[in-house]
Parts: sequence; C-alpha cells; structure tokens
Amino acid sequence: MRKKQFIYGRGFNAIGVRFTLIYTVLAAICLILVSVSLIGQDSGATQETPLKLAVVGLFITAGLMFLMTRKLTRPIRQLTKIADSIAKGELDVRIPMFCRCEIGGLAASMRLMVKRLRLSTAETRQLANHDLITGLPNRYRLQTLLERQVGSFDANGQPARGSVFFIDILELRKVNDRFGHETSDTLLKSIAHLLIAASPCRNDRENMLNAAADGLARPVLARFGGTELVLSIPNMVDPMEIGALADRLHAAVAGIVEATGRQFRPKIAIGIARYPVDSDSANKVKQYAALACNHALALPVLTKTALFQTDMMQAIKNRETIEHYLRTAIAARQFEVYYQPKVSASSWAVTGVEALVRLNHPERGVVGPGEFIPVAEMVGLIGDIGLIVLDEAISQCAAWVRDGQTTEVSVNVSVEQFQNATFADTVIALLRKHACPAHLITIEITETLATTDVAGVASQITALRSAGLSIAIDDFGTGYSNLVQLTGLKFDILKVDRSFVTGIDFEGTSREVSRAIIQLGKNLGCRVVVEGTETSSQVAAAAQLGCDEIQGFYFSKPMKRCDFETWRDLRTKNPVHASLDMLAASGFVSASA
Ligand code: C2E
Ligand code: MG
Ligand code: MG
Repeated sequence: MRKKQFIYGRGFNAIGVRFTLIYTVLAAICLILVSVSLIGQDSGATQETPLKLAVVGLFITAGLMFLMTRKLTRPIRQLTKIADSIAKGELDVRIPMFCRCEIGGLAASMRLMVKRLRLSTAETRQLANHDLITGLPNRYRLQTLLERQVGSFDANGQPARGSVFFIDILELRKVNDRFGHETSDTLLKSIAHLLIAASPCRNDRENMLNAAADGLARPVLARFGGTELVLSIPNMVDPMEIGALADRLHAAVAGIVEATGRQFRPKIAIGIARYPVDSDSANKVKQYAALACNHALALPVLTKTALFQTDMMQAIKNRETIEHYLRTAIAARQFEVYYQPKVSASSWAVTGVEALVRLNHPERGVVGPGEFIPVAEMVGLIGDIGLIVLDEAISQCAAWVRDGQTTEVSVNVSVEQFQNATFADTVIALLRKHACPAHLITIEITETLATTDVAGVASQITALRSAGLSIAIDDFGTGYSNLVQLTGLKFDILKVDRSFVTGIDFEGTSREVSRAIIQLGKNLGCRVVVEGTETSSQVAAAAQLGCDEIQGFYFSKPMKRCDFETWRDLRTKNPVHASLDMLAASGFVSASA
C-alpha cells in the first residue's frame, strides 16, 4: 500500500501561522496586563503600578519569545549537526521526526537523501569491491583484506598466520575463444560457486559477508582477474591441512560442469603460499602463491598443486636474467639462425631445412631456444625475435635460390606472433623485400595454436597459403587437439612429434600410434615429416611407416649456415651418403656414413 505523502508546513504547521499565533497570544497578554493596570488605577492604585506591570509584561513576553524561538530553532540546530555528520561521510545518522512544520519537511527530505546516499554508496562500494561477472570480491578488496591480515598481530602479540591459494582455471581462455564470453563467464561463475562450497567459505552469501567483515580474519574467495581466483584462508598453515583442502577443491570441480547448455570438465592448478612462513608482506605472499601456481601448471599430474618453496624464487631470478639479456640481444642482434636438414624418405635427398634460432651470449656462449623462447613469449619479446628469424630465414632462402640451390626453409612461429593481425602481411612483405619465392617458405605452428579459435588464426592461415606459403602443424600428437577442429583447417605439412619416435622401431603401441598419425596426415592430403630420429632403425621405421620426410640428429643436428652449406654440398657431390641412408632404412647397415 502506498504511504500517504504528508505535506509539511501547511495550515497550523506553517511557521508563519505559528508566529502569528504566538504574537497574537503575546499581544493578548499585553492587553490583559494593560487592562488589569487600568482597573487598578480606578481602584486608587499608585501611578507606578501600570509601569511595573508593563515591565513585568515585557519580561514575560521576552522570556516567552526566547523559549519559543529556542523551541523552533532547536530542530534546525539538530539538523545542522546531522548535515555536518553526513558531510563527513557518516551515513548511519538518525534523523528524528520533529514536527510537521517546514523543518519537519526538511528533516523528511534529509531522511530520503540519506537513504538514497546509503543505497548509492553501497552500490559504489559493491562496484569498487566486487567482480562484475562472478560477484566475488575483486582484486582490490582482496588486497585490502590481505594487507589487514598479513603482517598483523593477534591479541596475544602473535603474528597472524594463514595461507593464500592462487587458483588458475585451465582452459577457461580456450572456452572463451571457442564458445564466447557468455559461456566462459557462466562456467567461471559455476566453478567459483563449486570452489566456495568446497572451502571454509561455505556458500556465496557467507563469502560475501566474510569479505565485508572489515578487520576480521575470515576465509574469502576472490576473483583475481582473467582465469585466476584467490582463496585466502586465515589460520591454516599446516601442509597436511593445506593439501587436504587443495584436494577438496580439485575434487569439487572434477565433475561435469554445465554452462549455456554445454558440458565441461574444468581443471584447476593451485599454488599456495603461507604467511608469515613465506613472507609477512601481502604482495609477496600473493606473488609467491602465483609463482607456485605456475609450477603446479607444469606438473605432469591431474591434481596440479604446489606449495611455495624458496627455490622457486630462483626460477623468477633466472627469468629476469633471461629477459634482461634478451633485450640486450635484440638491440645487438645477437641471434643466429641454425639450420637442421630434412631428408626425403624416398630419394634420401635434402628437401629443406628448419630454421632454429640460437642466442650467442657473450659470456654463456650459444643458448638454445628452449631456454629463452618461453620467456620471450611471456614478456612480449617474441615478436621482435620472430621478426629477426623470419627476416634471416627468408633472406637466406632467397640467397640459396640465387646460388642455384633450391632449399625449402621452415620457420617456427609462436602464438603471440600469429595473434598479431599484421603477421601474414609482414611475412609477405619480407618475401617481397628479399625476392624470395613464397612456395619455398613454410610456417610451422603448433597444434595447440592451430586449434585455438583465436580470431584471425584461420584467416592468417588462409592469407599465407594464398600467398603461396605452406603451413606445417608442428609437434603433432602432443596438443590433445580436437581432431574435428584440426581437420577443418587447411594445412600442408604434418610434423609428427619426436616423442613418438622413441619406440617407433619396435613392434608395440608407439609404432602403431606413429603409423596411425602418419596415415591420418596422408589421408588429410598432407606431407608427413617425422622429426627426432636419432638412429638408423628409427629412420628405417619412419620410412617404412610411409612418412615423406625425416628430420633428426641421425642426419644432422641444427648447424650454422656455413656448416649446413658444407654438409649439403658434400652430400650432393657424394651420393654415397644418400645411398647409405637408403640402405640403413632398408635395414642393411646400421649407421649413416
Ligand atoms: P621444434 O620446432 O619442434 O624443433 C625441433 C627441435 O628438436 C629442435 O630443438 C631440434 O634441435 C630438436 N631435434 C631435432 N632432431 C632431434 C633429434 O634427433 N633428437 C633430439 N633430441 N632433438 C632433436 P631446438 O633447436 O632446441 O628448438 C626447440 C624448440 O624451440 C623448437 O621445437 C621450436 O618449438 C622452438 N624454436 C626454435 N626456434 C624458434 C623460433 O625461431 N621461433 C619460435 N617461435 N620457436 C622456435
Ligand atoms: Mg618446428
Ligand atoms: Mg617440432
């Protein structure tokens, strides 16, 4: 039912009317006094009596006036005080009803104003402290809570203890790329909900209350950003207890989770750091937990959990050192491209090379890509390095063409490079710059990149292929790709990962898997390259299973340009090498000459 709106300051409630009334009363009093004095004169009273009475009347009216105005201005003073408190940000003020005069109206308006202010402050607070997608406390709220907790002392003077769980939801980004924001947001919300239920935060409401309880050490799950959540558990430092909670969290999300009608089996990686055990700084504890999470990610187990250890710091230091010398190396162009040959599995002639980058460090000597490419990808330097390699490889390929040596060159490309919308244009511009035939250049992308629905991957592949370049899927068999998705893409070469080569030369699973992969590649109309062959029997097995080209230490390790040219010329001039390889492949001899 709608409440009847009262109109303040109407009729008798109007201050003007009240003052008029007061003055009427006062005037009446004066009249009465004067009349009384006149009656006194008639009865023979002295001359001073009316004067005295008039003075008394004056005092009485002045006193009454004073009392009246005090009564009238008291609510104004009270309201002024209240307004001052509101101005100071105190919204828990109580504004009394007062009367029904204009001041009462002012008080009512102020009550409404405070109510609205409270609402909008709560909204602003909600926005500032909560994540819009999950409704969880956000990174800033988490920071405030951790800063209050970590490094503080309890009532007995003991340092506060607890642990911070850094949780990364694996594959969430992929879900986002493949199925869009709505699905990934819903999935994220469901996962957060499951994690809360499995943790001491118990339920979403309690989690919110815990986060709002300023100064109280309570468990809270917060959204850190992207695919990451952080669970703060005060008073838990025992590794056994931490391990048990981590297991519960893994188990909570291990089942099928539905989002927008699709089913997912999410997985998480958890890194944990403790305070004050690992540090008494909120930022450090968070950073260590994130670092432990990175370690957990690399663990080859299903329940990826890692408790922070100080030697993990070494990994950060190494990364920083690598980043530093990568920057110097880019400026000083200290990179060198090595070439590893690929050999035809039928003619045993050299068909091409794979360009593999190395870093010539002034103190450390030659540093392999395994050490610096992941760091370059992480710190955003891969684009610069990739450009150096592409430029060098394409220019070298063109130089060999000019020398009458047609050698295909394949170049590895990282996700970050490929995600750059101008990548295909850059490659095409380099081909033009060096007058290099496009059909001699292959771009190697990993299986995971190929099956990522990152906008633009398919269009980059199309642009490169229409310009005449080939696309190779590198390290095939390691990315657990969705084959349907993979086969929807157009590529020319499939490189079987070298992990399959171990055991290829024996009857058994490895050999059968390799056979199936090679067959799959052939059925897709691709050239199949087997890489990582080290022995003659592996070369023989790869050839017998029907691959087109073979690459591996058996033929040669990656070489400097001049060493490769010498190796290639020797092999071209002396066909005995190819013949021996052929014999090795057929099982007659056991080693290359
Ligand atoms: P990849 O593209 O799969 O290259 C093949 C790697 O296997 C090379 O390692 C090569 O030396 C090694 N290999 C070849 N045959 C054998 C063998 O018979 N036995 C053994 N044990 N290893 C063999 P490398 O040069 O250390 O490169 C490692 C990875 O670094 C490459 O794997 C590639 O993913 C990446 N990489 C290399 N150069 C570049 C580059 O210019 N850009 C990018 N984005 N990545 C690169
Ligand atoms: Mg490669
Ligand atoms: Mg490879």
